Amino acid sequence: MNKPVLLAVDDDPQVLAAVRRDLRSRYRNAYSVLSAESGAEALATAKELKSRGDALAMLISDQRMPGMLGVEVLARSREIYPLARRVLLTAYSDIDAAVRAINEAHLDHYLSKPWNPPEERLFPVIDDLLDAWQAESLPEAKGLRLVGHQWATRSHEIKDFLASNLVPYRWLDAERDPDARALLDAAGIGADALPALFLEDGSVLSNPEPRQVAERLGRSLSAAFDVYDLVVVGAGPAGLAAAVYGASEGLRTLLLDRHAPGGQAGSSSRIENYLGFPAGVSGSELTRRALAQAQRLGAEFLVPLEVTGVSIDGGYKRLALSDGGELVTRTMLAATGMVYREHPAPGVAEHTGAGVYYGAATTEGPVFSGRRVLVVGGGNSAGQGAMYLARYAKEVDIVVRRESLRETMSQYLIEQIDKTPNIRLRPRTDIASVEGDGRVERVTLRAVHDGSCRTEEADAVFIFIGTRPRSDWLPDEVLRDVKGFVLTGRDLMADEAFSRTWKEPREPLLLETSVPGVFAAGDVRAGAMNRVASAVGEGSLVVHLAHAYLALT
Ligand SMILES: Cc1cc2nc3c(=O)[nH]c(=O)nc-3n(C[C@H](O)[C@H](O)[C@H](O)COP(=O)(O)OP(=O)(O)OC[C@H]3O[C@@H](n4cnc5c(N)ncnc54)[C@H](O)[C@@H]3O)c2cc1C
Repeated sequence: MNKPVLLAVDDDPQVLAAVRRDLRSRYRNAYSVLSAESGAEALATAKELKSRGDALAMLISDQRMPGMLGVEVLARSREIYPLARRVLLTAYSDIDAAVRAINEAHLDHYLSKPWNPPEERLFPVIDDLLDAWQAESLPEAKGLRLVGHQWATRSHEIKDFLASNLVPYRWLDAERDPDARALLDAAGIGADALPALFLEDGSVLSNPEPRQVAERLGRSLSAAFDVYDLVVVGAGPAGLAAAVYGASEGLRTLLLDRHAPGGQAGSSSRIENYLGFPAGVSGSELTRRALAQAQRLGAEFLVPLEVTGVSIDGGYKRLALSDGGELVTRTMLAATGMVYREHPAPGVAEHTGAGVYYGAATTEGPVFSGRRVLVVGGGNSAGQGAMYLARYAKEVDIVVRRESLRETMSQYLIEQIDKTPNIRLRPRTDIASVEGDGRVERVTLRAVHDGSCRTEEADAVFIFIGTRPRSDWLPDEVLRDVKGFVLTGRDLMADEAFSRTWKEPREPLLLETSVPGVFAAGDVRAGAMNRVASAVGEGSLVVHLAHAYLALT
């Protein structure tokens, strides 16, 4: 296979020569650098590369070109190479246009000319974008391959585990992909042993549990120390931030997660409002960076590992683990966030993983290319899910009980949805039932105003109908509000059980729960703001509070 391509586009021969020279000087060993003098030529080159089966890693286009503006070239290139990174070269006077075009063209970065010195202004950006591209794309013939039945719950579970843990893999449908049959025959694996995971060393795992997969991928599953200063339960944004600060500020820190790093944010296809990312950032990219940062600074990370209970033993907290083990720590952070609420309609539970998915748009989206899918819910997560699915599916219907999305979704997402021709809003509608033989084939929709029903063909239903806190693993001494969110700081004082539980001669610290040295941050906490930035802020603050608690004991 040929090297992946970096394609530069500019009608100005001098600028084009400068981009080509700088890119070649640094990337020529791993990438081919090609150039085009117009948007039309660039798109033709991209099509030709595609037809040859080559990979396009990045397109860098000048904005001002006769015939086709850079923004249009980048937007149109998405149809050919959806994963390629897109960079716009702008003059200072075009920066407003570049910012406005972030949504349209899905720009990853805009770079003002000139970019001297390239070591400071060009290479760091390109390195970062190429790392992200590498993490998402996988050459055809290499790497992990997962062969299974699309509609089997275990297939979905392993796909979700690999994708959420940022492990690149190639999915092969046992029924539709000719390569799948050849692989299974060669390894002598029957249909009853699926899904099968083919590893790079030639070995195969038949119908594995996520934990076995983690083990074979060399992930650490047991703690290195007997006692920790800080154990962070849950590796969403709050937990990742606590791990970064805990490790960097001298606490022996362990982070663990029952499923994967990133939490809810990890399932977001595009976080638009996190400070410092003007072009937005995907949840998986933010997670990849945060986890690398936490581990580089010395935090230990274990996955998949669930905390099932906690007992308080003097100043120590003993955490019971799903593998039967135990962890001991002096302070603990509950950063276990929220989970999607289940939809009660008949047929939903039976088809979960077989066409019904909670969140999971980014894991399953590509499978539904050219098909019809429904998104249930009117919040921002439903909007982001619909936008992501619309890249692949022929039709995406958003099913909401309300008249419109105005009260529940951010305006920027409503505008994006309005401009996306294959997304349709189905207002004042609910799911009455889901039917199909082993997978979703039909969905019955009910009109909210008169209860009339109508059955339609559909291939998948993605559900985003709100969440509930994940706090049931905490002991009774950790007080919660009526909905199960964990009370912290001054909010505790209003709870009548507080005076019976709290025996310290001081008030609880800001994010401390009713058990001294046990903290809560992010979405699991009563009064949380339910945003990535606030979860990150709270997780970081907990480290300062943990130091204060340790100084008192
Ligand atoms: C699809 C989607 C899109 C979103 N988009 C945006 C956006 O654009 N901007 C924005 O600001 N916010 C967005 N949000 C909200 C944001 O993602 C959340 O507010 C944020 O993730 C909360 O972080 P957290 O760390 O508190 O919890 P979570 O992200 O919920 O993470 C909790 C983690 O704890 C783990 N866990 C749970 N129980 C246990 C246990 N017993 N043992 C071990 N591990 C456990 C879970 O597996 C999970 O990984 C979005 C949410 C979703 C679902």
